[in-house]
Amino acid sequence: MDYDYDANRNDRHNQDGKSSLPVKQYRRRAKRATGSPRCHSCNTTDTPEWRRGPDGARTLCNACGLHYAKLMRKSEKKPAT
Ligand SMILES: [Zn+2]
Repeated sequence: MDYDYDANRNDRHNQDGKSSLPVKQYRRRAKRATGSPRCHSCNTTDTPEWRRGPDGARTLCNACGLHYAKLMRKSEKKPAT
């Protein structure tokens, strides 16, 4: 989880300073890299298909995604009906 520390950094007021610098605009870090995606598990960038992982969709390569899906299925407990 990311915490927005920067959001609270604007409460520093100018103390009668002559140099009133404009408030810096903090750019939000784009979560999506514009470059080639990378598997969060094995860091490969070469995969025929991107799969869903714990961090969201298209964060795992094909192999890791399948592995993750398997784990999820295993840990998934069937509700007793
Ligand atoms: Zn992978």
